[in-house]
Amino acid sequence: MTAPAYRRILLKLSGEALVGDAGLGIDPDILDRFAAEVRDLAGSGVEVALVIGGGNIFRGAALAARGLDRVTGDQMGMLATVMNALAMQDALERHGVAVRVMSALKINQVCEDYIRRRAIRHLEQGRVVIFAAGTGNPFFTTDSAASLRAIEIGADLMIKATKVAGIYSADPLVDPDATFYPRISYDRALREGLQVMDTTAIVLCRDHRMPLRVMNINEPGALSRLIRGEEVGSLVVS
Ligand code: UDP
Repeated sequence: MTAPAYRRILLKLSGEALVGDAGLGIDPDILDRFAAEVRDLAGSGVEVALVIGGGNIFRGAALAARGLDRVTGDQMGMLATVMNALAMQDALERHGVAVRVMSALKINQVCEDYIRRRAIRHLEQGRVVIFAAGTGNPFFTTDSAASLRAIEIGADLMIKATKVAGIYSADPLVDPDATFYPRISYDRALREGLQVMDTTAIVLCRDHRMPLRVMNINEPGALSRLIRGEEVGSLVVS
């Protein structure tokens, strides 16, 4: 296999990507397919960190809209990301991948606490690390957590897995005339209000010069091609 073009990457998967046709929770077949992709990535020699969202279970803002206290809702959302992380850990282990879940909230009977140096050590040892519980703070998203962790661990690239091929001028699933952007700056994405990530996540990446690839996770083999250095999806740079 061709040597990977990156030493260390952080892959952000949304919780919704795990849902499938079930509508809620985790589809075991989808989880298994993602786990196989991550196994292939790790097998190619690149160090892999994962952040998985929780939107397939709970989102604080949605709970607050139904009357729940926002901070409590966000805590429920963060705990949802821990459940997804445990499911992914299990799926990866079934594929023979060494993996650790590290949580930003302390629940160390279930998984490790997030300690930056220990996370880097796991990665250096070839273990996949799943960062759970977002940033550990309410009012943030797992996109912001992914940006933060990617910067903290010195990833060469952050990858945001989506349902579309990359960044467009409008939602391509709604507007067939939407323009595809193969490469764009964070400032332009902000200026034009493009659906890349929330502002906090974009600004973190921009200010710390963390490049981002936005790509379609449902395109078989795309992740492997990206890791081998091919132009896949859209690249966002400072
Ligand atoms: N969340 C939070 N702080 C964080 C990350 C996440 O409070 O640092 C909560 C928030 O309520 C969010 C939920 O966890 O809606 C699930 O995360 P997110 O919506 O980012 O998941 P995704 O859309 O990627 O599935």
